[in-house]
Amino acid sequence: MRSSPEWTLASQRSELAFPDGKPAYNQAQAVAEASRCLYCHNPPCVQACPTHIDIPSFIRKIATGNVKGSARTIFDANILGYSCARACPVEELCVGDCVYNDAGIPPIQIGRLQRYSTEIAVREGWSYFTAGAPTGKSVGLVGAGPASLACAHELRRLGHACTLYEKSQVPGGLDVTGIAPYKLRGEEALQEIHWVCRIGGIDVQSGVEVGKDIAWEELERRHDAVFVGMGLGPDRRLPGADLDGVDGAVAWIEKMKLGTVSLEGVRSAVVLGGGNTAMDCLRELAGLGVPEVTMVYRGTPEGMSGYKHEWEAAKKLGVRGIFGATPAGFVGEGQVSAVRIKGAEGEQEVPAQLVLLAIGQARLGEQLRPLGIHADASGRLIADAQGALSRPRWYAGGDCTNGGKEVVNAVAEGKAAALSIHRAMGV
Ligand SMILES: Cc1cc2nc3c(=O)[nH]c(=O)nc-3n(C[C@H](O)[C@H](O)[C@H](O)COP(=O)(O)OP(=O)(O)OC[C@H]3O[C@@H](n4cnc5c(N)ncnc54)[C@H](O)[C@@H]3O)c2cc1C
Ligand code: SF4
Repeated sequence: MRSSPEWTLASQRSELAFPDGKPAYNQAQAVAEASRCLYCHNPPCVQACPTHIDIPSFIRKIATGNVKGSARTIFDANILGYSCARACPVEELCVGDCVYNDAGIPPIQIGRLQRYSTEIAVREGWSYFTAGAPTGKSVGLVGAGPASLACAHELRRLGHACTLYEKSQVPGGLDVTGIAPYKLRGEEALQEIHWVCRIGGIDVQSGVEVGKDIAWEELERRHDAVFVGMGLGPDRRLPGADLDGVDGAVAWIEKMKLGTVSLEGVRSAVVLGGGNTAMDCLRELAGLGVPEVTMVYRGTPEGMSGYKHEWEAAKKLGVRGIFGATPAGFVGEGQVSAVRIKGAEGEQEVPAQLVLLAIGQARLGEQLRPLGIHADASGRLIADAQGALSRPRWYAGGDCTNGGKEVVNAVAEGKAAALSIHRAMGV
């Protein structure tokens, strides 16, 4: 069991091969872009942001040289505003809703401006928040991903003690282990977490799995309230996927981000699935030099849940897509050599020395059923709009309740649950 701040990542990691996909603005670029903002009265960009950052206000502060105030506006709404600046699919959120789009003019680069202020703030270690006067109440949080971190930070501002139980050795959840490295590297996400923890009193017990190292019921005995931010479970598998060279997408990405993956002898790789995890795998495999990367997806290009801009970026790297086809088996003895797929033209084999299964992740809510906590048929925990679960004093947020969205959703839900816990404490 380890507590902060001993978290470090290996010095050799495959993710380090990737350059920064959208390099940071310098001051002149940031001020020029900020000055284009119309500071709309009823800004659609703010509505599009799940954490409702006051976007025109932080942009105006950049334009007037008040970087410190700009970052404060962002972090006040979203304590992981730095990761979100780097990882958010802004094309689908704030930037996609900027009024300039309607006029056919390039929209304001809100994510890059947000990165500009928050990166300086985190690097300089500017402090904005202090812990509230102690209330004598304590909250136990399961997991130390974005949902729990946002919840804990808000609870500390309100004076409640917080202990996060995290099964991994490092905190951050998928923010550290999942985000594509050309958007955000693990050490950058960790740097922000150290900065978040500067508020003091966020006790992260890493290497502790709830349900194994400590019973779920024990959390209830130790704490006045419990927040569950445990994310999703392992990658879904397919029958026959036990050959070497067949791996779960999220598991493979984690290996690539926290350590090194060997692609020696991999001339062709296949990614099964058409969601955003599949998009990331395609770009990552191509970026690491695999000569032939193919996506196999059961539906049409229009029907893919992966973002269009991600698929366009993957295609620019030479990635190929096979649509309307489903996996029918894996070929190979010990080591995979091809995937058999079935489509409108019958069965065919696609050669592959590496196959990544990006067909979704398990949901873990069933674990809590013995406590009378409800989950839906897919295993997603059922919470009300404030994050309360069906057992008194239990709350949840992030991927385990929303089924798997973005970091910014997990932050918004973690923060909302913290406010709800605070109200229920009645202090
Ligand atoms: C491959 C991939 C790429 C992504 N890319 C992006 C992106 O570019 N932009 C974006 O905004 N979002 C992205 N996402 C989504 C985003 O990472 C998640 O929505 C977000 O991390 C969810 O936060 P969370 O705290 O709910 O869960 P997680 O980040 O999954 O954190 C949950 C934590 O709980 C821990 N835990 C689980 N069970 C237990 C237990 N029993 N005891 C103790 N600890 C436990 C886990 O180890 C983990 O650290 C991506 C997701 C994936 C899979
Ligand atoms: S919609 Fe665009 S122009 Fe208007 S405030 Fe938001 S970023 Fe600025």
